[in-house]
Amino acid sequence: MQDITTLIDFDQQHLWHPYSSIVDLQPVWPVNSARGVRIQLADGRELIDGMASWWCAIHGYNHPTLNQALAQQMEQMAHVMFGGLTHEPAVELGRRLVALTPEPLDKVFFSDSGSVAVEVAIKMALQYWQAREQRQKHRLLSLRKGYHGDTFGAMSVCDPVTGMHELFSGLLPSQLFAPAPSCAFDAPWDPTDITALTELMEQHHQELAAVILEPIVQGAGGMRFYHPEYLRQVRKLCDHYEVLWIADEIATGFGRSGRLFACEHARVSPDILCLGKAMTGGYLSLAATLTNTTVAETLCGGAAGCFMHGPTFMANPLACAVSVASIDLLLDSPWQQRVATIEAQLNAELAPLRQHPAVADVRVLGAIGVVEMREPVDLRSLQPRLVEQGVWLRPFGHLIYVMPAFVIAADELGRITRAIAHVLADT
Ligand SMILES: *Cc1c(COP(=O)(O)O)cnc(C)c1O
Repeated sequence: MQDITTLIDFDQQHLWHPYSSIVDLQPVWPVNSARGVRIQLADGRELIDGMASWWCAIHGYNHPTLNQALAQQMEQMAHVMFGGLTHEPAVELGRRLVALTPEPLDKVFFSDSGSVAVEVAIKMALQYWQAREQRQKHRLLSLRKGYHGDTFGAMSVCDPVTGMHELFSGLLPSQLFAPAPSCAFDAPWDPTDITALTELMEQHHQELAAVILEPIVQGAGGMRFYHPEYLRQVRKLCDHYEVLWIADEIATGFGRSGRLFACEHARVSPDILCLGKAMTGGYLSLAATLTNTTVAETLCGGAAGCFMHGPTFMANPLACAVSVASIDLLLDSPWQQRVATIEAQLNAELAPLRQHPAVADVRVLGAIGVVEMREPVDLRSLQPRLVEQGVWLRPFGHLIYVMPAFVIAADELGRITRAIAHVLADT
């Protein structure tokens, strides 16, 4: 192990981090190892992880079952091309995804990352309407405060303000946006919440290929939870106006919201579904885009005669094998009870923070706890103070939020909520 200062020096001079500047440097903490919900820093300190590495590590780090699945697959093959070849890890993962996701989704496209899964979904929708000789249906309708990834198609459907629309104006396809849903998850349904989206669909359905949104939880665009009836209405409107519905469950998939998939809160099924993040239990980058037989067969009947996408690392066997193991591990665990226990504890321990004058809102859904501040948080001062408290959280915008591994123990989660209370007490 090289000297920590040398390591940090090289990192800061040469390596980009997510949304970082190479000039105006932000601190980074070198990690030696991680096990369960504990992150071991190179300087010997141990942090309790409240982020699950951005929704992914639902079983905690360094899980023996997942390690074993990966080691076993490595002995068989790390990778083979998916053009003309197939393998058991891909088939087993496909089997599980078809069985677990809402009916009638039964055609699976594997890709490398969430953003690509969204590109694939958009391309499926566009090829579908081309095949139906309705090329004018090429725009997407999305929600404000949504987040769908960082590639160009995905960026075009992210929130137009916090997304990068201004930065890349003129280069992004121009999409339509409905206001973010405002009726809370557990509030009485407010029918006016869907009015603006209804009007947009009424006016624009002839040019709309698809509606794309994150069901129930708007994640990176603001960590907002909305009413399941909204999704039922979206499903109805899409059927009525002949527009496809893409559900982006890259963040919510695999139990995070309390259901295996967030669409289940509304008992509705999209035409196209995007999965990623927790699919491999946080081990490797893998995503999937699912659709139903009708959409799949229609789009393949178009001029191209096939679906025009094919990543080099499509259905990577290592990623598929660890994903199969992660899904089995999840389903064999009392995950619903664990998520419900985390939800109850987050509710109980974060609720008092509502009294704090700097706090605008506290909300919890499933294994997601959010403290929304009135002002944007100062990450540069806040993050080191959280690390001093022995926890790993990565606040952004106005938000300090927690989304731990489902295996976190009550005392560990308690240390995280106490750390939040502690840093707030100083502000
Ligand atoms: C993270 C995320 C993406 C992008 O996934 P990447 O793997 O980072 O490309 C897309 N949609 C949602 C809802 C996400 O949370």
